[in-house]
Amino acid sequence: MAEYKTPILIIGSGPAGYSAGIYAARAELNPIIVTGDTPGGQLTMTNDVENYPGFAEPIKGQTLVSAMRQQAINVGCRIVDDMIVEIDFEHPPFICSSEKHNQYQSDVVIIATGASTKWLNIPGEEKFRGWGVSACATCDGFFYRGKCVAVIGGGNSAIEEALFLANIAAQVIVIHRRDTLRADKILQDRLLNHPHVTVLWNTVVEEVFGNDTPPAVAALKVKNVKTDVESTLSVDGVFVAIGHTPNTAIFRSQLDLDRQGYIITYPSGSCRTNLDGIFAAGDVVSGSFKQAIMAAGSGCMACLEAQKYLAQLK
Ligand code: NDP
Repeated sequence: MAEYKTPILIIGSGPAGYSAGIYAARAELNPIIVTGDTPGGQLTMTNDVENYPGFAEPIKGQTLVSAMRQQAINVGCRIVDDMIVEIDFEHPPFICSSEKHNQYQSDVVIIATGASTKWLNIPGEEKFRGWGVSACATCDGFFYRGKCVAVIGGGNSAIEEALFLANIAAQVIVIHRRDTLRADKILQDRLLNHPHVTVLWNTVVEEVFGNDTPPAVAALKVKNVKTDVESTLSVDGVFVAIGHTPNTAIFRSQLDLDRQGYIITYPSGSCRTNLDGIFAAGDVVSGSFKQAIMAAGSGCMACLEAQKYLAQLK
């Protein structure tokens, strides 16, 4: 157990957290970044990033976030691989306690905890997680060379996952509950023109089936929501890409959250929460654009707002 003291504690280590840390370190505020249990956040699960300015060629999400971490270290951030599990924002100094029984005391907290993968919560999904059920094509796609996989969802994540897998697997079946995709037009065009991809429209997955020894996914029970006809689809793997849940459970009792659990900022578009000295940045904020570049910008903004707040305190 250790006790840490810092003017600015940053919770979370995606683009928002690192960006806030870089600005705070360069303002000589000796920030500490507590990474959470997925250091690097969602970017670590993103394959090619081609919309983050500064990289003429696509860059791997993992490479980008590793560079952010190194940059934060180089300018003087202390980074602790730990998970905050309890907070006391009653009055400053704010106290955050961690899984490793460390205690962090700070004048300001910047919350950049992002969001986590949503699962379908259907029979078989959890049982076969890691055995054919995945939420990360970049991590697990390799295992499906020449095989048949399904991707669930119709947003940008699902279509990016499907396109990534289409270059590895023999067949990719996108299963979407409606008859139009939510993903950007450019991704839709690439998907619908890809020879290895088919789309099952108006279809939901009801169950994942597989073999027990060794555990492996073998099929999905699917239902057409227009006709109610159920059928079985043979697949070797299934990638779930149906969105995210904000990582705000520990803040629920003290911060204002929207209906989906994202942190509300005042005024909207700023990084200030309902509590003085507590700021939020990146995907965890209600109404944010959920883009790495926006998260990085928002981390910068949270730090600048926090600096103003600290100056007023003095
Ligand atoms: P989205 O919320 O955009 O999409 C989720 C998809 O999953 C929707 O098509 C939704 O269907 C479907 N879905 C949700 N719940 C269920 C369910 N229970 N069963 C079946 N289907 C379900 O999430 P994403 O993760 O795709 O994207 C999040 C944000 O990140 C977006 O703003 C996106 O633009 C951004 N993003 C941008 C990228 C880029 O620019 N390169 C890459 C990845 C993400 P329905 O459409 O019917 O609601």
